[in-house]
Amino acid sequence: MPIFDLIVIGTGSAGATVAKAAREAGKKVAIIDKLSFGGTCSQRGCDPKKVLVGAAEIIARSEQMSGKGISGSSSIDWPDLMRFKKTFTDPVPKQTEIKFADLDIHAFHGAATFISANTIRVGDDELEASHIVIATGQRPKPLGIPGEELLIDSTGFLELAELPREIIMVGGGYIAFEFAHIAARAGAKVTIIHQGKRPLEGFDTDLVKLLVKAMEAIGIQIILEANVTAIEGKENNLTVRYTHQGKSHSISAKLVVHAAGRVADVAELDLEKAGVDVGKKGVTVNEYLQSVSNPVIYACGDVADKGLPLTPMASYEGSIVADNILNGNRKTYQDNPVPSAVFTIPTLASVGLTEEQAKSQGRNVKVTFQETADWYISRRINEPFAAFKTLVDADTNLIVGAHLLGSGSDEVINLFTLAMKHRISAKDLGDTLLAYPTHGSDLKSMLPI
Ligand code: NDP
Repeated sequence: MPIFDLIVIGTGSAGATVAKAAREAGKKVAIIDKLSFGGTCSQRGCDPKKVLVGAAEIIARSEQMSGKGISGSSSIDWPDLMRFKKTFTDPVPKQTEIKFADLDIHAFHGAATFISANTIRVGDDELEASHIVIATGQRPKPLGIPGEELLIDSTGFLELAELPREIIMVGGGYIAFEFAHIAARAGAKVTIIHQGKRPLEGFDTDLVKLLVKAMEAIGIQIILEANVTAIEGKENNLTVRYTHQGKSHSISAKLVVHAAGRVADVAELDLEKAGVDVGKKGVTVNEYLQSVSNPVIYACGDVADKGLPLTPMASYEGSIVADNILNGNRKTYQDNPVPSAVFTIPTLASVGLTEEQAKSQGRNVKVTFQETADWYISRRINEPFAAFKTLVDADTNLIVGAHLLGSGSDEVINLFTLAMKHRISAKDLGDTLLAYPTHGSDLKSMLPI
């Protein structure tokens, strides 16, 4: 049986970070993936999604400016757009394989299963290691309803050769909102069916209300507090059955998308054979991102139960795991402010506490909320829905939360994050000279200074 210093399961941002660091430190490393090498973000998630968002933004912007200097209509040619998307995704597996080969990392294809606390089977190979890192990411949450196999997931959506004219999203989070905008701007009629009282539950209530208005304005229908009970029919002719306010309803579409959350992708790993504890949020790890029940094993990225399942967290956690394996446990997971953006049009972005969280923690905060569609930066592009909310600690003058809706939000949120991480006060941030006119130059007007 080949013996390694380290086996990494998963070739996405988290796994690749650990494997590379360990190999560069001279360790004998193996890496395994059951799918094409490169992980979700670059092939089936963030990167291809944002290529599609780019096209949707052009349609939105051109419609907003219609009669204001722009005439004629643009439209999305879906097959053409998918061809363009593939220029980003298709090279990823080969490039990743080459990167690993150049580093002399031993690559294995197939689903890994544990045989014991430190041995793994992949295909016909059995491998042993001093340390094993689980970085397998997440997969769509099983819904436990009849016909759920008729749903396509985000991977399927990002591979669609043609875009159907009617689409239903089951779930009301990131995926439903982002895909709804892409599909609506490409001409599809989209309905979101969400089980909660409000969609995008982790985001600011007032900004989400405005975003919902923006979606309704382009014909996206959002049904809340609906309990999906079954999916019926066959490809291209599907019916979603749901209950709403005690009554049964049904709605039909050509395509139904699973946008109802994801869970740790551990089902095939046989973790009980390795004595690895798993909870609802994923592999249970301590502050060193080490399994609490098997010290040989570490976990990082979306599969671990620490932090948000977002790409920047995956490489951050991967670097902690690499350091702890190479040098003994010394680096701990820190709760840094982590910005997040929902790539709708307008974009919603957020960092730090929401107003509700600040209140429930009894924080003494100054809350500034304003709609900004009449600000120059929005009017310039005739953007109809824009707003911000900032939360500044009344005692320290430090920013504890920022929530933005509008074009440029995904960039401006990084300025707020920088200020929060480095404890730059609201006054000092507001006093910084920033290029004008930019989205960033509005920062000062968003702070109570
Ligand atoms: P989310 O967790 O964002 O949202 C899913 C929503 O669907 C939840 O509010 C959930 O409610 C609801 N839901 C669950 N089950 C049902 C059901 N049966 N019927 C109707 N609604 C239901 O998950 P997504 O699938 O949108 O995205 C998965 C993850 O992918 C995200 O958490 C995020 O980490 C990542 N992602 C990040 C993006 C970004 O950073 N821009 C973009 C896309 C994905 P409840 O909470 O009550 O279960």
